[in-house]
Amino acid sequence: MFKKNAWLNYDAEELKKLESFALDYRHFIDAGKTERECVTEGVRLAKEAGFCDLDQLIAADTPLKAGDRVYVNWMNKCLLAFVIGSEPIQNGMNILGAHIDSPRIDIKQNPLYEDTDLCYLDTHYYGGIKKYQWAAVPLAIHGVVVRKDGSKVMIAIGENDDDPIVYISDLLIHLSHELMEKPAANVMEGEALNVIIGSKPLPDTEKEPVKAAMLQLLKEKYGIEEEDFISAELEIVPAGRSRELGLDRSLIAGYGHDDRVCSYPSLAAVLNYEGVPSATLCALLTDKEEIGSVGATGMNANYFENTVAEIVRLCDHESELLLRRCLKNSRMLSSDVSAGYDPNFAQAFEKKNAALLGHGVCFNKYTGSRGKSGSNDANAEYIAKLRKIMDDNGVDFQTSELGKVDYGGGGTIAYICAKYGMNVIDCGIAVLSMHAPCEVISKADLWEEYKCYCAFLKNA
Ligand code: MN
Ligand code: MN
Repeated sequence: MFKKNAWLNYDAEELKKLESFALDYRHFIDAGKTERECVTEGVRLAKEAGFCDLDQLIAADTPLKAGDRVYVNWMNKCLLAFVIGSEPIQNGMNILGAHIDSPRIDIKQNPLYEDTDLCYLDTHYYGGIKKYQWAAVPLAIHGVVVRKDGSKVMIAIGENDDDPIVYISDLLIHLSHELMEKPAANVMEGEALNVIIGSKPLPDTEKEPVKAAMLQLLKEKYGIEEEDFISAELEIVPAGRSRELGLDRSLIAGYGHDDRVCSYPSLAAVLNYEGVPSATLCALLTDKEEIGSVGATGMNANYFENTVAEIVRLCDHESELLLRRCLKNSRMLSSDVSAGYDPNFAQAFEKKNAALLGHGVCFNKYTGSRGKSGSNDANAEYIAKLRKIMDDNGVDFQTSELGKVDYGGGGTIAYICAKYGMNVIDCGIAVLSMHAPCEVISKADLWEEYKCYCAFLKNA
């Protein structure tokens, strides 16, 4: 129904803008391989765009007025950006929400050991992954180590061409007869995701000489002791930068499209907004979506509501009722990626209601699984309004479901924001190989998505 290929719409001038936006996006995902790095990069972009730290305005009790631009860095893992509108804050905001955490492999608290003269880090994976996909590929270590005195060491190893990488080994095919008979879920067990980080022994050392050499290296190079792993957040992610895919360079292959391909355009649409909007605008980049939106930085925490309470107070006056009205009257695109239709695995999709690559931004009225369970089922009235905004602004969009009925499913942050009573719909773009170390998106979809977010901020 109504699906057409977005590439056919563009003239030379628009293609130039599309390519330039795709390049900016690639810089963002290459710099932001973890939620923390995405916040660092996002704050840099926000400051560059003239946004001020809301915490400083709160401390100084500085009122907010129409046109003011502020950001909030929440625990270095979530980022919010606001442009204050000319309408009363209780009329609600236009919110673009997405998540900046991606599936990966986390380092355990007591990770370091040696076996047969190889030095390893023990891990616990984060989010839904096909574990076997992470073996026998180049990997990088990103994250932070916090010493007992509170000082921090930021780690990013494996990204520069002359950086070393780290690695999870796989069993050679010659000896895999038994392994190949196993269900794919058990081919690589969680406890087998051990990362090789070295193999050189320390001379004249009897006990664990390779581990001893590694500890010496960590001490010399990073000032880290073995105990410091206790207070570290280190993430194993695919090494290397995103790449253009296809001889026509129409696609982007890379790590973490889920959900940075929604996060970056959401942030960019708010940061690039020119002039004073009528409704207050908000970009909300959250953490922990991949493990159920839990914890102090997940969407189920109160940081968003608390931040809006501060905004309400600085825009108007302190009032629980004004806060409730502001949230209830808001409009939101809960932006997360959709399962791109894959002809190689056609059995998993229902083609009429699947997201096609290159066919524009994608609205999912509902997600969930087995009878829409756990989904935010967006209101028809709201969808009608969004359809009109898209059509009026020449945005190519499609609608989709996550695969065939009863085939599987998934959730997003939409239902959590919907509990305030605001109108929310899932909106994103199609991804191939979602949650794999290397995922694929279309540049045309990325561009239509950005156009969609800009039109939404102006007109919702
Ligand atoms: Mn996602
Ligand atoms: Mn996901």
